[in-house]
Amino acid sequence: MDLRQGIGLRKLGMTPDEFQQDLLSNLYYRRGTTVESASARDAYETLSQTVRDRLAERRARTAAAHYASNPRWVYYLSAEYLLGAQLEQNLLYSGTGELAAEAVKALGFSLEDVEDLDVEPGLGNGGLGRLAACLVDSMATRDIPAVGYGIRYDLGIFRQSIAEDGQTEHPDDWAFQGNPWEFPAPDDRQTVGFYGHTEPLPGSPARKRWVPGEIVLGEPSHMLVPGFGTETVNIIRLWKAHASEASFDLTSFSAGQYAEAVQEAVRAENISKVLYPDDSTELGRELRLKQQYFLVSCSLRDIIRRFRLRNEGWDTFADKTVIQLNDTHPTIAIPELMRLLVDEYELDWDAAWQITRKTFAYTCHTLLPEALETWPVRMFEKLLPRHLEIVYLINMLFLREVEARFPGDHDRLRRMSIIQEEPDRRVRMAHLAVVGTEAVNGVAELHSKLLRETVLDDFAELWPAKFQNVTNGVSPRRFMRIANPRLADLITEGLGDDGWIRDLDRLAELEPLADDASFLERWWAIKRANKVDLAAGDPDSLTDVMIKRFHEYKRQQLKLLHVITQYHRIREDPGGDWVPRTVLFAGKAAPAYHAAKDIIHLIATVGARIAADPVVSPYLKVVFPSNYNVSLAERIIPAADLSEQISLAGKEASGTGNMKLALNGAVTIGTLDGANIEIRARVGAENFFLFGMDAYQAAQTRLDGYDPRRHYDQDAELRAAVDALTSGVFGDVGHRVAGSLLGRDEYLTLADYRSYIQCQDDVEVAWRDQARWTRMSVLNTALSGFFSSDRTVADYAARIWRVSAVPVPRED
Ligand SMILES: *Cc1c(COP(=O)(O)O)cnc(C)c1O
Repeated sequence: MDLRQGIGLRKLGMTPDEFQQDLLSNLYYRRGTTVESASARDAYETLSQTVRDRLAERRARTAAAHYASNPRWVYYLSAEYLLGAQLEQNLLYSGTGELAAEAVKALGFSLEDVEDLDVEPGLGNGGLGRLAACLVDSMATRDIPAVGYGIRYDLGIFRQSIAEDGQTEHPDDWAFQGNPWEFPAPDDRQTVGFYGHTEPLPGSPARKRWVPGEIVLGEPSHMLVPGFGTETVNIIRLWKAHASEASFDLTSFSAGQYAEAVQEAVRAENISKVLYPDDSTELGRELRLKQQYFLVSCSLRDIIRRFRLRNEGWDTFADKTVIQLNDTHPTIAIPELMRLLVDEYELDWDAAWQITRKTFAYTCHTLLPEALETWPVRMFEKLLPRHLEIVYLINMLFLREVEARFPGDHDRLRRMSIIQEEPDRRVRMAHLAVVGTEAVNGVAELHSKLLRETVLDDFAELWPAKFQNVTNGVSPRRFMRIANPRLADLITEGLGDDGWIRDLDRLAELEPLADDASFLERWWAIKRANKVDLAAGDPDSLTDVMIKRFHEYKRQQLKLLHVITQYHRIREDPGGDWVPRTVLFAGKAAPAYHAAKDIIHLIATVGARIAADPVVSPYLKVVFPSNYNVSLAERIIPAADLSEQISLAGKEASGTGNMKLALNGAVTIGTLDGANIEIRARVGAENFFLFGMDAYQAAQTRLDGYDPRRHYDQDAELRAAVDALTSGVFGDVGHRVAGSLLGRDEYLTLADYRSYIQCQDDVEVAWRDQARWTRMSVLNTALSGFFSSDRTVADYAARIWRVSAVPVPRED
């Protein structure tokens, strides 16, 4: 039996009988219970195992095919993965949905009961983590050999509750009941060092010995990432920190000092305790840097281990390996690979640097200067003394390169240095990421352009060919097929088959149906049914949604000013012919971001006041479901009529919420920001509500000396809205938000107010014509196929990764 070819596996049955047999055997042998006493949780656990086994079998064949072809691999390094619930996805991807429904029915449960127990692993914050999840999905769907690396946080993103006093955070112990989708792999554990000092090594002056002061173990587990409509099953490998045995102090324990005995162990295990620990203290910040190095160190050793399964020496490492850095959080991988190659594997510096630079690629996710990560040199040196030496050497050689190109330009050297000198000495991670990689990409066309023109302009001048754009995308499985089954079925009917789920450009074939009255009727009816399911408000009202993290640049405050203006208008003319609207906000604010939490608080307060007003409430309702996550997004998006994408132009890198909503037939009201521009170009200007300044006008407005008061003074409706905030009825929080708007108004909210209000008036005109609106909705879906993450992955594969697909043979 040749196990390497995957031969010898019994193919798991896919008939109702075989599936049920396997479910029962899992119930008896793995769960240790019986049909008579099975609880919903027993049903959930055994169903998950039965589905998981089918994917695991495909995983074994995938691993055999990958081993046989010794391909070039993509390794995706990300501090975050916002995966969403797993059961429904895995049922779809393994084609076992109907078998599962039947089998759990035999145990006395409905599939919905069982799915309710599936907990979403909240290992990410928002867009960046969700992008990582969509990309690994699409890599598997495109048969690209890939591993995603991340951290298995015990506590993911906090659970949010919302009351009239705003947001409260609760810990999210997501794996409290276990996680049936995870395979622990303790044999592949890695050892990670921190602190300590370095010592010279004889021979090469570039080599050093690092003697760490603390040792922590990284224990991996992996989750399966199946492709859709293909055999490939890739993995995400997540690292959990463990204390080494040596850190348990038996002497203290024996003396009854239990807390002291485990102190060091607790400290070690804190590394994977929480996603983004509070960084308002020095210790919290150091813990974040520790997490970054922990992820990088474990993952690189694992990548090298995997390389060595089929390859020898280092000549082919960069040909077989591309490591994509999802933002700067994993950038320490660059000096870490240098350290491994130079200190441990004894390559000379130049050879190691050539390999390193060819191996990495970097995706930048921001334009906000305050979001560009830097670390104090002092902290870096204390935690990672050897890495700082390496960064210094990389920087010295890099600055020599710059000096050779631009002799005597000291200002340029200061600007480009990896080390910031003033006002304090810090390591600039984005600079390190640009210097140490072969390709740098932004995530939407405008973003990539602005990176080249502003934030990274000096680097783009030095290395123009290094800078690329790869516009983000979203998974049509998760955000269409799973989230919106009614619409997916209608599309399948309209197109004649469901091949569009893997080939989203085919949505364009829907275009002629936008003129078919009966198709439009059915489309409208589906939107309405989705609104009934969501139960957020009157299903016949215009469902106006703003769902995303709370951040001042995203401008939820602008949406709130519109709500207050609408409130005033209705109050002044209660008999008017108003378009009923349900305004739905959802999103979390970072726990220490007080201005964003104020906006949540104020929305809740204003919403309660409107709900209590019998004159206004028939026409205007504000709802704020708590705890925005992937599962909630999947419920809201199919019900949305209007998609609010109203960030200040030049601030949102791309957005992916905008894509999910457009694909589900919501019409966008938005600025010329991020991927909005590309959405508008594709769906057509007549099917998109555009308002506000563009990025260049916004920058110019600032340069001209922006004064929010001028807009307040000149616009009576705006004045009334802001005055309402300071009138006292909304309490202190109203004062604070108004104060920030009239004071600095950092994100030019008041400057875009009038244009936004006028645009919302146009929205209502369009909405009153149901056929016109539905046509716009259909065309948004039909013309957004470009925004599939399958296309994003194809772009990365062709232009940055230069990898080919490795199909996994089917076993019949
Ligand atoms: C898509 C998504 C985001 C990103 O939304 P943007 O509007 O692009 O900021 C954030 N959180 C969740 C749960 C998502 O599904």
